Parts: sequence; C-alpha cells; structure tokens
Amino acid sequence: MNIFYYDIAIPIPIRETFTYQSKDIIQTGTRVAIKFRNKEVVGYVIKNLKNKPSFPTTEIFEILDSEPIFKSSDLQIISWLADYYHHPIGEVFDTFCPPSLRKRIKTDPLITSFDTTYEVIKEDKIFELNAEQENCVKELKALKGFDPCLLYGVTGSGKTEIYLRISDIYLSKGKSILILVPEISLTPQLQERFINRFGDNIGIYHSRQTPKQRYDVWNKARSGEIKIVIGTRSAVLCPLHNLGLMIIDEEHDQSYKQHEGFRFSARDLSIKRAQVEDIPIILGTATPSLQTLKLVQDKKYKQINILKRANGSEPPGFIVLDINDSKLESGIAKESLDAIEMTLSQNKQVLIFINRRGFSPLYECNDCRWVAECKSCDARLVFHHGLDRLMCHRCESAYGVPKKCPECAHSNLSLQGSGTERIELFLENYFKNTTIIRLDHDTTKKKGALNEIIKKVHESDSAILIGTQMLAKGHDFPKVELGVILNCDAGITSPDINSLEKISQLLIQVSGRVGRKEGNGKVLIQTRYPEDENLRELKSGDYLNFALKNLKQKKELHHPPYTAVSLLRTSSPLAEHNIKFLEKVASILSIESDISAIGPIPSIITKSRGNFRHHLIIQTTSKTLLNKFAQDIISSVSSWKETKKVKWYFDIDPIDYS
Ligand code: ADP
Ligand code: ZN
Ligand code: ZN
Repeated sequence: MNIFYYDIAIPIPIRETFTYQSKDIIQTGTRVAIKFRNKEVVGYVIKNLKNKPSFPTTEIFEILDSEPIFKSSDLQIISWLADYYHHPIGEVFDTFCPPSLRKRIKTDPLITSFDTTYEVIKEDKIFELNAEQENCVKELKALKGFDPCLLYGVTGSGKTEIYLRISDIYLSKGKSILILVPEISLTPQLQERFINRFGDNIGIYHSRQTPKQRYDVWNKARSGEIKIVIGTRSAVLCPLHNLGLMIIDEEHDQSYKQHEGFRFSARDLSIKRAQVEDIPIILGTATPSLQTLKLVQDKKYKQINILKRANGSEPPGFIVLDINDSKLESGIAKESLDAIEMTLSQNKQVLIFINRRGFSPLYECNDCRWVAECKSCDARLVFHHGLDRLMCHRCESAYGVPKKCPECAHSNLSLQGSGTERIELFLENYFKNTTIIRLDHDTTKKKGALNEIIKKVHESDSAILIGTQMLAKGHDFPKVELGVILNCDAGITSPDINSLEKISQLLIQVSGRVGRKEGNGKVLIQTRYPEDENLRELKSGDYLNFALKNLKQKKELHHPPYTAVSLLRTSSPLAEHNIKFLEKVASILSIESDISAIGPIPSIITKSRGNFRHHLIIQTTSKTLLNKFAQDIISSVSSWKETKKVKWYFDIDPIDYS
C-alpha cells in the first residue's frame, strides 16, 4: 500500500509546518483534520513530499474538501504573505478562510457550471458620461494583464459611476469582479449602487456578517453563481470564479492595514493577487497614498485623472478659523455655530467631524489632578454618557464613575474635552427640533444600525451629522453644504511618520463630503495654528500638488516609500524583558552596514491589556534587504533565553508607531 507524505500548515503562532501521512492522494490547498499536540485541529496541505521523512509521522484522519479550497495561485500568494510579513503561515491561511471552514466541517461539492449573467438596469443608467469620464472608461478598458492603474478622481468626480461602467464591460465578457472598500461602513452605499445597476445578485463579504453569510458568499463566488463581490480586508482572496478585474476603492485609506494580529496591508496584497493572476487592478481615490504616487513616478502604475466634479459643481472652499481667542462651547466656536445655523435655515445639512468618540476624553480631579486611567493600559478613560461608564478605548474595559476622587477623596471632579457624544447632546440642546445624526463606532455597533443611519441622512432635509473618520470617508450625502472640522490640530502637530499624509487626506476627504450637489459648500477648520504652513497650502484644496511636494521631501530625507521600514514590536508584563530582547537584536544589527536600528523605544501606546510595549525601528534601502535581515533575526532569536520572555513580531511597512 502506498503512503503519501504532506507538509501541513497549522493555525498556531509558530513559523513552521508539520509533516503528516495519508493513504490518499491529497491536492495542495485542501483542508484536513489532524491531531496536533493531542488536540484535533484543521490544517492546510501545502506540499506533497516526494520522500518518506526520516522521522515518524502521524496519519491524517479526514480530508475535508473534495476540491482544494485554495488554488495554486492562492498558495503562491499565501506563501508570499507569510514570507513578506514574517507571519506564521497557518495563521495566514486562517485569515483568508471563511470562519466556518476553520472548523472540521466539509465543504459543499464545487459546481462551476453556473451561467450567471447580469443585465444593466436602464432606469439607473441615466446620465451621459462627461468627457473626462468617457476618456477614463476608454483607458481602463484598454488595460490588459497585470496593469495597476491609479484612478485619481477628485471627490464627487463620479468614480463610482466609472466602477459601474467598467464592471459592465467585464461582466459582459463573463468575468467576475472584486471590489474592496477600506471599512464596513462604506459597503452599504456601494452595494446599493451596484444593486441598482445590476440587480441583487451581489455578494458582500466582511467580518460583521455571520459565518453562514460569509460561507454562502464565498461558496457562490467560487462556483461562479455570484460575479460581483464587495468586501473589506478579509475579502481580498475571495475565490471568485474567472476573476477579471479588481477595484480598490479609497486606496489611500489606512484601514486597509490590519492593526493587530496578522498586520498585512489589503491594498498591497490585492496588488500581489492581481500580479499573480495577471489581471488589471484599479486603485481609486481623491487622495492617493504617497506609496502609490511613487509607483506612478517609477512607471510601475498608470495614472488616469478626473479633475472635475461630475455634475460640474465646484469643490468647497476652506475657511481657517483661528480659535485662540474664542470661547468654545463643548469644543465649538461661536462662528461655527452661526455658520451651522445659517446652513440649517437654508434647509441643508451640516457635517461635523471630530476624531473622538464618547462624551469626554478626560475625567479628572481639580484639587489633586488625579486622572481616571485604565488599570491594564496606559490609556485615559473616556466618559460615555449613554452608558454612564468610564471606558477604555484600548481594551474595552468599563469602569464605574467615582463621585469622589480616589486619591484625595474630594468631590471636585470634572469632565474635560469633547467627543462625538458631547457634541451631539450640546447641539440637541442648542438647535432644538433639529435632526441630529451621530455616526461612530458606538452608534453603528448594532446589526442594521449603519444602514438605518445612512437611510436617515438621505431622508432628512436640514440636519446635523456628527461623526468620526467613519463619516469623513467616501459617502455621497448630497444635502451637506457645510463641513466643520473640530480637532485637526493633533494631526497638524503630530511627529508621527505619516501624519502629514494622513491629515492632508482627512481634510480633503471631509471637504469631499460637502457641496456635492450644488457646489456652494464650505468647510470650516477650527484651529489654534492658523499660520501653519501645511494648513495654508492645503486650504487651496490641491491635494496632488501637496502630496507630490511631501513625496519629494520623503526622498530627500530617505524616508519611506524611498526606504523600507519595519518595526520589531514586543510586548511583555515587564518592560525590561522587552528592552533586553530588543537591545540584543539591535546589537547584532549594529555590526551591519546597510541597516540602521533605532531603539528600543517605548511604543506610543506603552501599555496595553497589562503588557508593556516597545519596538525597534529597522530601516534599510530596499524591501529585499529588509526581508533578508528579518529572516536572519528570526533564525537567531529562536534559541535565545530573552526570546522566551516576550511576545514579538515584525510590523512590516508600519503606518504608525502606536
Ligand atoms: P466619487 O465616488 O468620485 O466621490 P460619485 O461616484 O459618488 O463620486 O459621484 C458623485 C455624484 O455625481 C453621484 O451622485 C453621481 O450619481 C453623480 N454623477 C456621476 N457621474 C455623473 C455624470 N456623468 N453626470 C451627472 N452626474 C453624475
Ligand atoms: Zn483628587
Ligand atoms: Zn484598557
């Protein structure tokens, strides 16, 4: 009897694969049930070994898929991911496997004989494309094979209409399309536009769905029953049958980078997928990332522009409001309140952006300066009025609100600063009988809440919308005529690596939500730094010019994207364990000439969930070199005693030092 040997990836935090045996021939990319350390687990077959290994192996006890769930191109991409991000390959597999298939469940047999077609719904395709759009579709249509293309379209330029038209072209050739958005909150709008155009056979894939919903979309995409999938990060490898085109909407958005666990960039991964599958990919945005602009300059990507708003309306003007001498009410200046009142009286909507949720970010004692902080994180507690609790936004712990100071026992406690909730309560009181809609993490938590909120915005006439980042991105709310940005000063003054890129994108994106229909919009920026040079430049609204200047500076300073950077991050209950480990790594790197290691440095979030956090900044001239050094580090540290005391991982292409 023949026995076959397989390398299997198991979803555990270990950078190794394991060998098992079977009497059956199993294709790579198939899930199998195996025993690992006396537990039953699901593993992924990644290699068929030619020879019997020299050590004893255990038997695979069940083959779960009749057809591999990962094709050979997927395996190529997953192994690239594990190498590039230095992440355990079993966990990488798990990330892209529908949650229900991470368990010992069999897949349905794969039927790919579907002949799904999509008809354009004529009532929806009402306007003629303008000349810029027309030209854009023509150029996109000409893309062949792996051909990344930046679609730079100012806000309101009709990028979504372009996505619909180009999708139509691919669908009529029998191809399927994958569209990625950076955040779940952007799926309902795009979903609606695609349903209006092509009917409701559209798949949505993101982490707020039930495992059953996700499996269903995944399965239908795989069989070709669904040919349009709209999703977030976890959808990047959605196995669409006959995939012809990928669209990355809002490509600049930092939410494409996963913040914890397996820290990959879904934007970069989608480029990799397009390359491996040899298909075109469109990166759409009004505020391109510096990385993408560099790749355009290097002639690796094409660029197509739409420089005018689709309906001919003018983008809103910025007004910088110096608040140094203003008396603020719940963080809002009198001038802003007057402008809000004026807009409401014209039966229009106002959008208020504040990058902070909850009622108030600081609860302190006025006598001894005690401040409410989380016991397990170095984070101040945020008061939530609705919950009547102090909340840690890092670990989600909730605390009661002490009436007396725990330090000095006085009752002279107060709330300082404002978040979305406080602004909402204040404005409800100030503008009685006005519709006020808050869009943030807290108001959208419940199932269906987000759709309700978006519907309410469209159905209301005059209204005030208050929100965090979530509100600033991508939405098409035609009645908004005034934007008020309450706290961008932290972004202007932040020393973080990408702060200028982030704040410029944010200001332009907020302005992009304003005056979309009539073009009489304006955006007020409340600031204590009215003379700030960057702010003065951004006031013109010319993002591209600003970004190209910023990019030039990055080149002169040898910063990313002109160099490759990785953080070696550690966490442990004792700070000195992190420091000892990172110092040892730094000392090995110090003898190398092509690499610089800065640190150990306490991370911006120094303590989280009871663990101290430190990192080492590792910088080299190229990604290939960085990868090589990381490999060397991984093989050296595995035998150290210092390694056992810390949790460590690489954060490749970090977006911040938090
Ligand atoms: P973007 O995604 O670039 O911000 P959208 O695709 O949301 O812009 O389009 C903005 C608005 O302009 C939408 O309401 C859309 O229906 C409308 N629009 C798009 N193309 C045209 C056109 N050619 N003529 C008139 N209106 C258009
Ligand atoms: Zn006190
Ligand atoms: Zn906490």
